[in-house]
This record gives sequence, C-alpha cells and structure tokens, in this order.
Amino acid sequence: MNYEAILQEVYQEAKMIPTIGNVSTSIPELSKVDPDKFGIHLTTIDGEDYGVGDCNEKFSIQSVSKALTVALAFSFLDEKIWERVGVEPSGSAFNSLVQLEYEKGIPRNPFINAGAIVIADMLVTHLKNPKQDFLDFIRLISGSPTVDFNFKVAQSEKDFRFRNAALANFLKSFGNITNDVETVLDFYFYQCSIEMTCKELAHAFFFLANEGKTKSGVQVLARSQVKRLNALMQTCGFYDESGEFTYKVGLPGKSGIGGGIAALYPKKFVVATWSPRLNEKGNSELGMSALELLTTKTGMSIF
Ligand code: GLN
Repeated sequence: MNYEAILQEVYQEAKMIPTIGNVSTSIPELSKVDPDKFGIHLTTIDGEDYGVGDCNEKFSIQSVSKALTVALAFSFLDEKIWERVGVEPSGSAFNSLVQLEYEKGIPRNPFINAGAIVIADMLVTHLKNPKQDFLDFIRLISGSPTVDFNFKVAQSEKDFRFRNAALANFLKSFGNITNDVETVLDFYFYQCSIEMTCKELAHAFFFLANEGKTKSGVQVLARSQVKRLNALMQTCGFYDESGEFTYKVGLPGKSGIGGGIAALYPKKFVVATWSPRLNEKGNSELGMSALELLTTKTGMSIF
C-alpha cells in the first residue's frame, strides 16, 4: 500500500471540500486557533510514519484525551470501571445533562463529559500526583517527552466551567464523585488541555492498534482490554455522531473539540487528523471527511 501517495491524495481532495463549521467557541482560548489548519499523520503497525499538511503542529487534544484516561484507569481498575460508568452510546451531545437524572448518576459511557469526569475522579483517587502522572503516561505512550499541558487553555476552561461544574456537582449528588469536585474538574481541564501534534497523537494511540503494546514495546493494556476500548470508541467516540462516523469511516476513533481525531485499524495503522472547524456535533468536519476518503481509497475499514 502506497500510504504516502494516498495521504497526499486524501489531503488535496479533502482541502477542496467546502466546510461550513467554525472553531469551538465554548472555550475562548480555543477560538483563537487558525480555523484553516489541516494535518494528517499515519503510522503503520511496522512503525513507518507518513505525514501531510500541519501534522507537526501542536493543538489541544481536548476529548481525544478521554480515550487515554480510560486506558490508564482500565490498566489498574479493569472491569471495576463499569460499576460507575456505562458502555452504551448516549445518542446525545457530549456535554448533555439530561440522562444523568434518569440513570441515577451513572453516565452512559466514558466519552461524554459526565463519564469522563467520573473517570477523572477514579484517576484522582488512584494516582499519587494525578496531573503529572497522567502527563507522564501520555509521554510514555507517545514516546514524546515534550508533550505538555497548555495552561492558558486549562485556565480558560476553568473560567468557563459552568456546564462541566454542573455535571460534576450533579454526579457528586448521586455519590459518583468521591473526591472534591473542584479537584476533579481541575484534573479534567488539564487532561483536555494537553497539546500534541498529529504525529504524537498517532504514536500515543499506537498501542490500541498493537494489541496493547506501545510503539516502544511497553504493554499498556491486555489484548481483551484493547478490544473493549476500541469497541467503545467505535460505538461512542463521536457522541451522537458515532453512527455516522462508523457508517462513513468504519474505524474506531476519538474526536475532540480542538479539531483532532485519532483513529485506528487494528494490526494495520493508526491515523490522526487535525482541522479545527467543527460540525454541529462538535466533531472536526474535515477530519471526518479525510478519514472517510482514507478508508474509501485504501479499502481499509474494519467492516
Ligand atoms: N474540554 C471540553 C469540554 O469539557 C472537551 C469537550 C470535547 O472535546 N468534546 O467541554
């Protein structure tokens, strides 16, 4: 497979697709990003790297981080996670509050904000220095010691935390947050503020295509846990657009409102895209189109 040529084609064709969305405005600091940035990076299971466009520029990974907090929590709590968060698609927006009341404070899945905040609570309980330990985990799996938080983005999100604060307090009222609410939110905002390039992100997700082993050979999760995490990304990774992403792209993946997407084909490749213009569901418009083109041109979707 000539990935280099295919990525070039995907990049050129995707760039011609008219976009109607714009950058996220829910976090003021994110709205400063150039909306026309666009990069793709693909890493094969043999470790070959192919990148196009702005693939070496850092961006805020936002909710893409949710797959990685689940991975870390999964690595030490295993199936216990599911006592406090479900594995069903929510069919509603990433920051929705409504289902929580009916479901007595058990979020539908770990990728909507409510679920990710519960996972953050688990990490705050289990890690000695939660923020630093999570950052070290990202540095380990990406093989990139320079990956860091963006303090301005974290602060901006904290300043405008009303919706996430409502979710966290509501969860606390059901007893599904065990630590101090502000401490958990602080961790959650920092995890979302992490900045990475498409290349770093593709490397960080490599273990999910490689039966739990990072690019440098560290076994992060067991094979069966990887199967489960990929299944969750497939069914819930794009919130109420998870069906659409599955239908058009056919790969497990995770998006974020910074415009990033990480997706993978088990035992074949990992791919990360970045384009900050979002559709109404909060997913990268061009990123989704590019991945649709990629799986169409290569014929490589899991279905
Ligand atoms: N930090 C964002 C929030 O909590 C993450 C949302 C996202 O990327 N979908 O609102």
